[in-house]
Amino acid sequence: MMRSHLIKPILDEEYKQISHGSGVYLYDTDGKKYLDGSSGAVTCSIGHGVKEVINAMHDQAKKVSFVYRSQFTNEPAERLAEKLAQLAPGDLNWSFFVNSGSEATETAMKIAIQYWQEKGKHQKSKILSRWMSYHGITIGSLSLSGHTERRARFVPLLDANPVISPPYCYRCPFDRTYPGCQLKCATELETAINRIGSDHIAAFVVEPLVGAAGGAIVPPAGYYEKIRDICDRNQILLIADEVMTGIGRTGKMFAMEHWSVQPDIIALGKGLSAGYTPIAATLVSDSIIEPILTGSKLIMSGHTYSANPQSAAVALAVLTYIEKHSLVEASHSKGIFLLNELQQFKKKFTIVGDVRGKGLLIGIEFVSNTNTKLPFKKDCKVTNLVIKQAQINGLLIYPSTAGIEGVSGDAILVAPPLTITETEMNELIYLLYKTIKEVEDSLQVPKNN
Ligand code: PMP
Repeated sequence: MMRSHLIKPILDEEYKQISHGSGVYLYDTDGKKYLDGSSGAVTCSIGHGVKEVINAMHDQAKKVSFVYRSQFTNEPAERLAEKLAQLAPGDLNWSFFVNSGSEATETAMKIAIQYWQEKGKHQKSKILSRWMSYHGITIGSLSLSGHTERRARFVPLLDANPVISPPYCYRCPFDRTYPGCQLKCATELETAINRIGSDHIAAFVVEPLVGAAGGAIVPPAGYYEKIRDICDRNQILLIADEVMTGIGRTGKMFAMEHWSVQPDIIALGKGLSAGYTPIAATLVSDSIIEPILTGSKLIMSGHTYSANPQSAAVALAVLTYIEKHSLVEASHSKGIFLLNELQQFKKKFTIVGDVRGKGLLIGIEFVSNTNTKLPFKKDCKVTNLVIKQAQINGLLIYPSTAGIEGVSGDAILVAPPLTITETEMNELIYLLYKTIKEVEDSLQVPKNN
């Protein structure tokens, strides 16, 4: 085989090559078919090869693909900003376009800090976040991320942004049970603020459901209401990183709508273009943009490709497709069916500890003992085993673990395109059942129930 010069995630591993995709399926160059049970990295939410999007791409390319944002505005970017203002909750009416989720969260940090500077509060520059979180891979967004494994190599470059525990009821960080816990995971934020001093804090960042670092962890009822209240009382902005959860993935256009809590800033990525082009966005509310509009009038950020017409036209076509086919509602109803079916796995397997999620963002956590919830040892690499076995069986799923020995477990994300049919969901359930059965048998875990 010819030597490849492409730097791949694991350099000495062989990767299959995909030749094409159609609907929920991908096909490799050997002709093998894969059910895309994770929409890639929870991205291709409308499936592969959608004609309307391909046509929009082509039409825009014929007009113009690139204009530079500090020289011109362009129609697709203007229309996309209007569309997002219409879709976003409350007064989140302003869009700053970037190219990746990491850039969107990093821009959110910068805007939050600038907001306080415009108001004369120059000391309010610290951003708080949670452990077991993932906000991106650039130094700023990695700094926000409470992902031990991904931080490890760069610790000296990173700020200590993660300060509180995640709202992780299956393994409550405080050994409490809801509702008797009185939402200690939320009130811990106030303790951290009191320690640091609210005069130094610009914002608090959350993933509405923990995605890549924990397997679709859903906070308990009342959590975000309490967080919003603590932020308001302490004059701290709330940033929702909806890069994974936004644009219908959880059965609402924005996941924070499940709790009727409006953040001040939202980061979007992945589903915004459903993988058809790199584009992401930072949405900002009227009240946050106001002092910048009347102050320095310039957000000190931006990238060469920010708001380019080609990507904006693609994202617009994706949003139009989602609305036309009522895919947000579909995500909700299909999610109920799929979650219910996958929850049966808890009875069928010795290694399935928890199955959770909202809409078509579902997490499965694996444990070595379902009674004690004891995680597998890290070197068992259970997540890896499941992902690989699934791929052998023609199913794609997404790994989701923060890599903290003894604290969090092995988990996967099941997040198929929102267009998946019932027959395809049944195929997914069957292939995942077969995969977990094969892994469980290979691990020879004794029955404990
Ligand atoms: N935030 C969240 C919640 C994510 O899930 C991700 C990607 N998994 C990112 C940010 C980073 O996005 P990107 O990989 O596009 O930079």
